[in-house]
Amino acid sequence: MTSDRRTFAIISHPDAGKTTLTEKLLLTGGAIHLAGEVKARGQARRARSDWMKIEQQRGISVTSSVMTFERDGITFNLLDTPGHEDFSEDTYRTLTAVDSAIMVIDAAKGIEPQTRKLFEVCRLRSVPIITFVNKVDREGRPVFELLDEIADMLALDVSPQMYPVGMGGEFQGILDFASGEVVVPEGPSKEFKGRRVADFDLPEDIAENVELAQIGYPEFDLDAYRNGDLTPVYFGSALKNFGVVELIEAIAKYAPPPRPQPAGEEQIAPDHDEVTGFIFKVQANMDPNHRDRIAFMRQVSGTFKRGMKLTPSGLGKPVAIHSPILFFAQDREVADTAEPGDIIGIPNHGTLRVGDTLSEKNQVRFTGLPNFAPEILRRVALVDPTKTKQLRKALDDLSEEGVIQVFYPEIGGQWIIGVVGQLQLDVLISRLSAEYKVEAKLEASPFATARWIKGDEKAMAEFEKFNLSNLAKDRDGDLVFMAKSPWDVNYQEEKNPDLTFSATKER
Ligand code: GDP
Repeated sequence: MTSDRRTFAIISHPDAGKTTLTEKLLLTGGAIHLAGEVKARGQARRARSDWMKIEQQRGISVTSSVMTFERDGITFNLLDTPGHEDFSEDTYRTLTAVDSAIMVIDAAKGIEPQTRKLFEVCRLRSVPIITFVNKVDREGRPVFELLDEIADMLALDVSPQMYPVGMGGEFQGILDFASGEVVVPEGPSKEFKGRRVADFDLPEDIAENVELAQIGYPEFDLDAYRNGDLTPVYFGSALKNFGVVELIEAIAKYAPPPRPQPAGEEQIAPDHDEVTGFIFKVQANMDPNHRDRIAFMRQVSGTFKRGMKLTPSGLGKPVAIHSPILFFAQDREVADTAEPGDIIGIPNHGTLRVGDTLSEKNQVRFTGLPNFAPEILRRVALVDPTKTKQLRKALDDLSEEGVIQVFYPEIGGQWIIGVVGQLQLDVLISRLSAEYKVEAKLEASPFATARWIKGDEKAMAEFEKFNLSNLAKDRDGDLVFMAKSPWDVNYQEEKNPDLTFSATKER
């Protein structure tokens, strides 16, 4: 029932070819829905079903958050991770909603910083990775060098499934180990066509390398892959649509169907006897005249039906989900059901928040959607001091979306925002101005990092008494220690053994 869903994301460094590969996956797979644009070139496919109406009526743009395509009876849900250099919590959280990931590497560049960071996030959750070495139509680095770099830098077993017959000007095709065939480019543009040749005459040096590649690296092992210990490696050219079919087939064959999700001590499997899911992303208004937002729920179990009543953990009372956005709905048709692994967009007015669990019985609480300790902290100062209320609203909204974190100091009125990447600061200022008509400036803050504090009541009260000027509340009202330096954190940890100082907060 559930095994026909593959929910995955692409992780890569900017310019490695994620957008191009996404387009080709959708093209090859026959996209059902293209939510928003994938830097749409050529004719943009636009589905005109319920979510489009919502986009138009309410001014919400569901920009390429979820893309769905189908091939050979498998439904693929591709979740977009924002591609900029600075990563945000939004990216992290999207990776909590997938069952596997494709790691795209530029053949000329190998592992780049952003790839590595995103990989580490996948590793935290043992998300299985398929590697796609892209741009083999251009001069790249030697194949073994690339394979060894992946293995060494990521501490991961690599298992090549293909071998490029030349790269760049020498490129003749890609040998597929499974079939022994070489996929050869055909047609004048060398685009969109690959012919499989069974008796391809490999140049001698390539034939030797192919043998080395097959004996020198671990054989593919499904369990090791699914545990996140081994990555099968595919080669191709997204631009020339080469190796893309093989990649889709690999996802269909090896990538895990919806995995059980952690809920405290429990694991909730897809066959759990009720509909459950969690919100991993909230996208607010792009149009300042509207205050609606869409919460993205990763469905974990059960069969969802339109109009169903689910209870959000943050609200405590059931709400009917009348107009869900079901991304895999056929063009112009309104889908009425969704299965585990699917993403449901739920329009709401701010009741649904990142980290919320939705369920029929209101008993399950999914865990493991972290907030990360900010690495950059700034004070927010208003240009027009009468706009305090608007600023508070905006900061609450944007922290809910995961654009920033906000801290309200226990003493003094200057709110502090925290981010993990510099780019989030620019996004904040421009969105404050464009969407909330609030002109604000960021000023240096005396704090370097923040820690969520937990402990028994007495220890907490004692700590509060002596550290009031270093305490703040986050958006949920949880107590946060604002530290002037990492040393400060260590010092307080040692001095207060009854308290825990946590760099992440699970919601
Ligand atoms: P993203 O930043 O990862 O989304 O990368 P894009 O898909 O936008 O690609 C970055 C650049 O690399 C663009 O100019 C693409 O045309 C180019 N590109 C992507 N895939 C390939 C490929 O397979 N071969 C070559 N030669 N160029 C590619």
